[in-house]
Amino acid sequence: MIKTLVLPLKTSTLHFANVQARKQLMARGAKMELFITQPDDWHLHLRDGDLLEAVIPHSAFHFRRGIVMPNLKPPVKTTAAAVAYRESILKALPANSDFTPLMTLYMTDTTNPEEIKLARESGFVQAVKLYPAGATTNSQDGVTDLFGNCLPVLEEMVKQNMPLLVHGEVTDPGVDIFDREKVFIDTVLIPLIQKLPQLKIVMEHITTADAARFVESCKAGFVAATVTPQHLVLNRNSLFQGGLQPHNYCLPVLKRETHRQAIVSAVTSGSKRFFLGTDSAPHERQRKECSCGCAGVYNAPVALSLYAKVFEEAGALDKLEAFTSFNGPDFYGLPRNTSKIKLIKRRWKVPESFSYASGEIIPMFAGETLDWMPSPV
Ligand SMILES: [Zn+2]
Repeated sequence: MIKTLVLPLKTSTLHFANVQARKQLMARGAKMELFITQPDDWHLHLRDGDLLEAVIPHSAFHFRRGIVMPNLKPPVKTTAAAVAYRESILKALPANSDFTPLMTLYMTDTTNPEEIKLARESGFVQAVKLYPAGATTNSQDGVTDLFGNCLPVLEEMVKQNMPLLVHGEVTDPGVDIFDREKVFIDTVLIPLIQKLPQLKIVMEHITTADAARFVESCKAGFVAATVTPQHLVLNRNSLFQGGLQPHNYCLPVLKRETHRQAIVSAVTSGSKRFFLGTDSAPHERQRKECSCGCAGVYNAPVALSLYAKVFEEAGALDKLEAFTSFNGPDFYGLPRNTSKIKLIKRRWKVPESFSYASGEIIPMFAGETLDWMPSPV
């Protein structure tokens, strides 16, 4: 008979007892299951058109809500555009899905404070995204001078209690690509917080020990960070393992091992300042495997398995649920989900690819075997 161990995920004392019990049960062939509040994805690229239709089922299967990034072509710059994009996402959802897209606006040099009021009034727009011009996919329209052009908008965001989501890298070609996050903290984020200490900021997809330390040093409740699965399980060697690996290329680019370890320590410490944001960013295969490949890792199908693996290896499974399901809504001031999902300790093989009308998408860890399988309750 297969026994099931359900981890209550409460205190570290309980966790220690669970580890012992888990080892004994696993040794006897028992099945381990975690029941956690359904997670949200606080950083998600859903794209549009047939690519949206191809990827939305994966996010909707795992997550209850998703902060949907606005870097379409053209970008989602207005509340009206966000409402229209939301409609097309809802239309593309599988039947019976209760996935809720949380919309964002793309900040430009000419974004108007009135637009922030409209965004808040809509009830659909939850945040504004700052892409320094040229930082990543479809960021040509991004901000060129935050302090020179965007202060009135930022002040209105403080009034409306609307978070600013930042792609935290400078784009100066003179700055080494591996140093761009740290330079952004020093030259943009620290002055921004000094100017507007009441502005809520999410430093998206952090990749360095510097960023983790910086977020921890800020006033609680005002600065937080999302963390992707790839920055928790891969380091920059993965870009070159046995040859160039385009499907591990994303921005901010993977960093050295010491940074990966620092990020793992930060998220598994139990700090409320870090939460789940996959940065799942699909591109058609040919756009990754070419002479100038796009940045972005498609991780929606594997993200929860990988987060569970990271917390398990750190001996911190009791802190997984806060990271996946509590810290994000608490920071945004949104209710926590009431639905649950199950994570089963069972090996499963990641598909080699997903076909859709315009080609195929290669997921992170394509063809590899993972240990944790998410499942509806
Ligand atoms: Zn992103």
